[in-house]
Amino acid sequence: MSANPSKVLVAGGAGFIGSHLVDRLLGRPDVGRLVVVDNLWTGARENLAHVDDGRFALAVTDVERFATEERFDEIYQLASPASPQWYMSDPVRTISANVMGTMRLLDLLAPGGRICFTSTSEVYGDPLVTPQPESYRGSVDCTGPRSSYDEGKRCTEALLSEVARVHGTDVRIARLFNVYGPRTKPDDGRAISNFITSALSGEPITIYGDGLQSRSWGYVDDIIDGLEKLFWSVPHGYAGPVNIGNDREVPVLTVAQYVASLIPGARIVHGEPAPQDPSNRCPDLTLARSLLPGWSCEIPYEEGVRRTLEWFAARLSPPAAEGGATPDPGA
Ligand code: UDP
Repeated sequence: MSANPSKVLVAGGAGFIGSHLVDRLLGRPDVGRLVVVDNLWTGARENLAHVDDGRFALAVTDVERFATEERFDEIYQLASPASPQWYMSDPVRTISANVMGTMRLLDLLAPGGRICFTSTSEVYGDPLVTPQPESYRGSVDCTGPRSSYDEGKRCTEALLSEVARVHGTDVRIARLFNVYGPRTKPDDGRAISNFITSALSGEPITIYGDGLQSRSWGYVDDIIDGLEKLFWSVPHGYAGPVNIGNDREVPVLTVAQYVASLIPGARIVHGEPAPQDPSNRCPDLTLARSLLPGWSCEIPYEEGVRRTLEWFAARLSPPAAEGGATPDPGA
């Protein structure tokens, strides 16, 4: 262990992305203590059940109410629902986790410490330019049904950017684009996990609207590689927001058809469009490529969907001993 081991806090560390980030952080020998703060609203203990490390502790509480005398050298703020159906169900809690949560975390930052925040491509709303560079200010309805998440993230970006400007705080902001992969909750509600869990359960894959709306799907391992570089391993010193995503934009219908092609008997139906569903989303990665040399998303959605399907199939299938047939993700 190094002479001055870092004290690290990960808010939302029991969540889908947060738990992968925790794994990566615990791989660092200079991390002396890592505290996860998570209220387990959309996170799950199970995501951290494999962690067997004396440096690790879990505090189950809302981040905005986390009481401690400890101060942390590095803070990672991922405490927020990210699925529209979850954040729309409790907008107060969504705004509170982001804005009030980050205000609380700033109190817990040791002098000279760094705070890193996972923002979202939702700050671009239903974008009128494509791909979206960080300089694009977005097309967001600030009172619409997605606003608790969109504006919660935007306000938190504002808070951190101003803290960096006024107080010189070391701030890092990542704007993530449609991340998917293992450890997504089966009831998360986002597209790829929904398509897979529906098809594995013999339910139809439901596309909201015509499915021609597009997203840029980022497999979690690629995204964590980007976050590692942006947040701690590349000394770039840049405090502004940086797009982290896969810039291969693919329609929802295409992804649904691909999932259906992997699961025998899967079928696709169309339902009502989601409220104010953005028509497109694609990161301009010019800034990321210049700040984070060598980083790019390597895993195409076809491969990422297969890996995610394998993970869900192993969890959702009845054990073979009970007579359940394990769906063959390679079929
Ligand atoms: N979507 C869908 N069926 C689902 C879940 C999502 O057709 O079961 C669509 C949704 O309307 C959107 C896209 O897939 O156009 C991505 O949705 P998701 O909730 O994953 O993320 P978003 O980008 O909307 O935050």
